[in-house]
Amino acid sequence: MKAVHYEKPFQVSVKEVPLPKIEHPDDCIIKVTTAGRTAAQSGLIFGHENMGIVTELGSGVTLLKKGDRIVLPFNVADGRCRNCEEGKTAFCTGVNPGFAGGAYGYVAMGPYQGGQAQYLRIPFADFNALVLPPGHQHERAFALLADIFPTGWHGLTLSSFQAGDSVCIFGAGPVGLMAAYSASLRGASRIFIVDRVKERLELAERHVRGCVGVDFGGGGDVVEEVVRLNGGMVERSVDCVGYQASGGKKGGEVPNAVLEQCIRVTRPTGGVGVPGLYVPSDPGAVDEEVGGSPFFLRNGFGLRGSSKGRMSLSFGKLFEKGLHIATGQCNVKAYNRQLRDMIVSGAADPSWVVSHEIPLEDGAVREAYEKFDTRVEGWTKVLVRPNGDL
Ligand SMILES: [Zn+2]
Repeated sequence: MKAVHYEKPFQVSVKEVPLPKIEHPDDCIIKVTTAGRTAAQSGLIFGHENMGIVTELGSGVTLLKKGDRIVLPFNVADGRCRNCEEGKTAFCTGVNPGFAGGAYGYVAMGPYQGGQAQYLRIPFADFNALVLPPGHQHERAFALLADIFPTGWHGLTLSSFQAGDSVCIFGAGPVGLMAAYSASLRGASRIFIVDRVKERLELAERHVRGCVGVDFGGGGDVVEEVVRLNGGMVERSVDCVGYQASGGKKGGEVPNAVLEQCIRVTRPTGGVGVPGLYVPSDPGAVDEEVGGSPFFLRNGFGLRGSSKGRMSLSFGKLFEKGLHIATGQCNVKAYNRQLRDMIVSGAADPSWVVSHEIPLEDGAVREAYEKFDTRVEGWTKVLVRPNGDL
């Protein structure tokens, strides 16, 4: 079968690889209809957002049947560890020894191949699969149930958001856009979204009712701007950027930049949600020096990363304001069923975030990775159709 193959940093190709096999009675195999994109490492097939049609079942799978259309949380979870029992499937301790959580096609997240391939093995299939209505309807929206729609929703939950709250979302990438959209669906009074890509801000303003884009590319103080527009600090802030936060005019990555802004922009006793990615170690980072990952070198930026996942934080200010802060990847299973039902009923349609749908062909895949990695305008969210058009 064909699959996206990692060549070297920032270079991929489409290659022939062996078909996946049932390796455990709880596995199933799907023919992938739609997959998202991921960062990846050597030896792994990309794609942590996966949906498709069940083609093969292990002898222990009882809830699924051949032909079922399913979407998989990007978290691989076993359904039997303590965290899974408590619904915290992003922190499953049974699928990736020594690490809380596993995922498909993801660096450091276990040996699970991704879905940018024609077929994919699904471990613990009964537990992980969410069954969708048959047919082709809502394919793009349902594909977003694997990660970004639940993750955006989760960002608000982490901030202890309640209907009527004002909220400032940092980052208008796919997760930030979904967080803003979720805030609108959940009854926010005011929604601000901060980014420096004008096109993304415009996208948010066009599709999220009441959303106001705030551009930090001009070099002004974003927090002052949001406070001015809101007539005071916001109740909730959500960091959808993570450790790769831009240093703005200073350039490079400043891992604590967004967290600092969240602490400043949130009103005393408010909440900060942090779904944005932070890593325990960033092999590309060189602390306090210029250097680092190929993307930033190639693009002529310096890099001030945090190779050990450490950073300074205004913890005193956080304490003084009595802020609530919560972090971590999204327990997709905690939300995906309800969000699926909102899509089916027409209460939600997040598919506007998808900018491109591409076939699993070498040229198209290379171009998509290149465009996305270098933040070319208009490439917001790319989906891959490994088995061609539906
Ligand atoms: Zn588990």
